[in-house]
Amino acid sequence: MTDDLRTRVHAVLPGIRQDLEDLVRIESVSADPERAGEVQRSAEAVAELFRAERFEQVDIVSADGGAPAVIAHKAGPKGAPTVLLYAHHDVQPENDPADWDSPPFEPTERDGRLYARGAADDKAGIAAHLGALRVYGDDLPVSVTMFIEGEEEVGSETLPALLTEHHDRLRADVIVIADSGNWDIGVPALTTSLRGLVRVDIEVRTLTHAVHSGMWGGLVPDALMALSRLIATLHDDEGNVAVEGLYAGPAADVDYPEERLRAESGAAPGLHWIGSGSSVERLWTKPSLSITGLDAPKVAGASNTLVPAARARISMRTAPGDTTTNALACLVRHLEAHVPWGATFSHTVVDTGEATRIDATGPAYDAARAAFTEAWDGTAPVDMGVGGSIPFIAEFLEAFPEASVLVTGVEDPDTRAHGANEGLHLAEFERVVLAEALLLGKLGG
Ligand SMILES: [Zn+2]
Repeated sequence: MTDDLRTRVHAVLPGIRQDLEDLVRIESVSADPERAGEVQRSAEAVAELFRAERFEQVDIVSADGGAPAVIAHKAGPKGAPTVLLYAHHDVQPENDPADWDSPPFEPTERDGRLYARGAADDKAGIAAHLGALRVYGDDLPVSVTMFIEGEEEVGSETLPALLTEHHDRLRADVIVIADSGNWDIGVPALTTSLRGLVRVDIEVRTLTHAVHSGMWGGLVPDALMALSRLIATLHDDEGNVAVEGLYAGPAADVDYPEERLRAESGAAPGLHWIGSGSSVERLWTKPSLSITGLDAPKVAGASNTLVPAARARISMRTAPGDTTTNALACLVRHLEAHVPWGATFSHTVVDTGEATRIDATGPAYDAARAAFTEAWDGTAPVDMGVGGSIPFIAEFLEAFPEASVLVTGVEDPDTRAHGANEGLHLAEFERVVLAEALLLGKLGG
């Protein structure tokens, strides 16, 4: 069956690539209100693709004024399981086109990659689903529901409402979320854990108004010194997060080679890693804390004044298995207990998103592992964690607790999703399509 499918995937690929390029040319930047029309046009183009695949009930839906999503169905054999295929048709802003080696919305092939905004994240997710379906034509091994979201890149705000409103239409035995990636070129992966996110703005105040640093320095502490001391308590000397009560779990036994870590992270020469444990533990299953912004007077123009108040933004990644409620409470307790010198402390929560830990066992996972291993010529998939967060995965797990959720995707370590020169590795993309076609076949028995 693999050889036959391999041939069919190869045969449908040029058409799929054409469809992907057409989608990429639509500037569906969900964060840009000026391009709301493009997001709508993109939803219509996606709907048209599924109509052409002879899907029934192809609808463009939205909830609470959110961006348009596409829902469509195609029935398989009687009694076959239903598989929900998810991807998103909106994209990140292209930012400065000067940083790109080719125009961001003009798909361009160089050295085996197709470059453009959305060429990978996540229009290639749509294209991968389309490819897996097209090889079966009207002979699908399973019943399929498509759900192509239009606001993933702006936080999927109305996704819970969509999942509730269309719960019966979206109900499935297996959910395939194609918005992550593989471990390396030639090594597939299933994403089984994602960290959560808690962002908090903190303010430390030592004075009701600014005063002369010569007149008062030595007796009165300034807010920047107090804030720096407070921030310094967040890690121990080794660089482990020092906040008590946060959960940390074990990671899969995956070796992340030092050269890859150095190259992919952009670490400056001579930089030491922080924390203890394996590198994937530190990246995937332990919490992390970073300071992503500071409000303080600029150095140029700084006067001889004690700064009365200073602010910082703390970005905390929570471990799979922790809750944002617990993590936030632990963080605030730590900060309140460590504010130096009786300074006044206050905080505001910016946003939170839950971590995800997927139970990667059972028949759907067995089928996926077998399909990926075949598509990658005998290389089994890695159980991969992701340090970042895709909070909407938790929404799916909550809305459909009885379904098996598989997180797959087209990205590789050099995809540069969200950055300039985002690119899809075309040879790996063919394997992704084959793996999904094999998976659908196996799920259909
Ligand atoms: Zn994405």
